[in-house]
Amino acid sequence: PAVVAGVGSAADDPADDAADDVLDDIAQMHLFRRGVSGEDDPGAAEEGVAPRPPRPELLQIHNSFILAETRDGVIIVDQHAAHERVLFERIVASFERGGAEGQRLLFPIAIRLTKPEVELIESILEPLAALGFEISPFGTDAILVQAVPSPHRYFDAEKCVREMLHELTHGSDLMNSARNQNERVAMSFACKAAIRAGHDLSNDEMQELFDQLFATELPYHDIHGRPTVVRLGLGELRKKFGRT
Ligand SMILES: [Zn+2]
Repeated sequence: PAVVAGVGSAADDPADDAADDVLDDIAQMHLFRRGVSGEDDPGAAEEGVAPRPPRPELLQIHNSFILAETRDGVIIVDQHAAHERVLFERIVASFERGGAEGQRLLFPIAIRLTKPEVELIESILEPLAALGFEISPFGTDAILVQAVPSPHRYFDAEKCVREMLHELTHGSDLMNSARNQNERVAMSFACKAAIRAGHDLSNDEMQELFDQLFATELPYHDIHGRPTVVRLGLGELRKKFGRT
């Protein structure tokens, strides 16, 4: 769909080639999970307790990637790329609904602006507000951040705003790929606010990220066009071990 931009990939992109297979794998994972209902677990049904659906086991490696067994091998998800995709699609949808509410800060953050940032700020206050940032001018060369979005528990709002202002004033390949100011702000936020490599995720957080990623319209690429998922098939593994 036209609303979701920032996607492109080389023809030899293995994640792209394998996209259909991954989709099959994910569908299988979900089928497997949905396949077990209360009827299959009479004990739970009697007690009126909803049984916990079995989920594929996820393993975080190097606090950066998430590994999952699939029907035909394994998939490896880049946690930052995946979350960036999730955030971007959520923002685009939220912009269409008029924006999201932020959380009010107990202690507002004052951020001093450079001259180019002072010139920019007025034009991005509206999309920033739609993201959940409540920002007001503070003197002639600063802003006061009074409410912020909360994309994940490691989120550093001040760092995010500073990095976004820097990217929006200095430009980047990502900024060049956007079609308008709102999209530039949305893309910059998705990139800067997404969970980073190096952050430890709980099992529930990994499951949530998986569910959200595979519910997006373009789950296989981040907004830079890089893959979010790499697939290693059993056939490839067997070949590597000389078992052909
Ligand atoms: Zn990025």
